Amino acid sequence: MDFSTLCVHGSNKRYDTTGAVSVPIFQSATFVHPGVGMSTGFDYSRAQNPTREYLEQTVAKLEGGLDALAFSTGMAAITTLMEIFSPGDHIIATDDLYGGSHRLFQHISMKNGLSFDFVDTTGIQNIEERLRPETKAVFVETPTNPMMHVTDIAAVAGLCRANGLLLIVDNTFLTPYFQKPLQLGADVVLHSGTKYLGGHNDTLAGFLVVTDKSLSERLRFLSKTTGACLSPFDSWLLIRGIKTLAVRLDRQQKTAFQIAQWLLEQDKIKAVHYPGLPDHPGYEISKKQTTGFGAMLSFETDCKETAHRLLERVSLIQYAESLGGVESLITYPMLQTHADIPAEEREARGIGDCLLRLSVGLESPDDLIDDLKQALNGGNTNV
Ligand SMILES: *Cc1c(COP(=O)(O)O)cnc(C)c1O
Repeated sequence: MDFSTLCVHGSNKRYDTTGAVSVPIFQSATFVHPGVGMSTGFDYSRAQNPTREYLEQTVAKLEGGLDALAFSTGMAAITTLMEIFSPGDHIIATDDLYGGSHRLFQHISMKNGLSFDFVDTTGIQNIEERLRPETKAVFVETPTNPMMHVTDIAAVAGLCRANGLLLIVDNTFLTPYFQKPLQLGADVVLHSGTKYLGGHNDTLAGFLVVTDKSLSERLRFLSKTTGACLSPFDSWLLIRGIKTLAVRLDRQQKTAFQIAQWLLEQDKIKAVHYPGLPDHPGYEISKKQTTGFGAMLSFETDCKETAHRLLERVSLIQYAESLGGVESLITYPMLQTHADIPAEEREARGIGDCLLRLSVGLESPDDLIDDLKQALNGGNTNV
């Protein structure tokens, strides 16, 4: 079945006999036992709830996984995932990582006895060099946030398989519509469902998707024990958001490409990072491992003042954290998503005071470009 059909019909399981076309929101904490020692399949909503199950089965199908688990946020999903590791375990992670993941690893996972090496995973030898007997997993984000570096998932999967490591891929930026890491050899796909899957800047959610039965059972045990599950109503909002995932992404990607090209022509823009531009270092790998380049891009202005002015003057595009929704958002990584990373380390990764990140929404491309144009050049301040 085609991906866009799966988005609409998802799990397709019916939980009641009314014929409701939209899966009901089972707003119930607990479920009646039909008899002693008997269960309807649902006992208590922390363990499972029909609306959440419908969503999880939909996401598992979209990623081509055996099982998917829905969490209250993307960070809750990653925090739960870290519980499969034991003190002493070592993980190699992409250096240009989502700021929240970096913060979790540095301030919580390390306290719990895990150790990390952050490397440029676009070069497979960088991972190889850091392998230790205690290494248990490689954690990759691709394309990265905010520099849009692209890692060759199949190549890293080969290395992981040869060394008995788990490969975890954060697929938030591209979603399974454009990239299916499990098919490329990854063991765990994770999502901030807050972003493209939800798609409307209105709900927080997270997912873990796996192919292995025993890993799925372990994660289900951890999820029901630690309890960061997604609520029935938020599960329903995600089901609803996913119905339009394919059409949203097609349109958002097209607009992102137009904006990237426009930005390249502007004197005050010094660099544009978008994997869909042929001179982007990740262009060839992207063409090989994805079916699209997504709708996220970052760019560098000529000076800090231009960046600040742009943030203050955009009116249609909103200066706010997050991404992947129908509303276009612009962020200032050094002050927002990456504020917790020490300045020196951040600068070394190219996240300086001229770097802006744009999440392209569903507005008309002309309106978005007009907004950027007036923010960049408008007014008579002679700055
Ligand atoms: C937002 C985000 C997360 C964290 O997800 P939340 O839903 O905000 O907790 C993780 N990874 C990436 C790439 C993200 O963009």
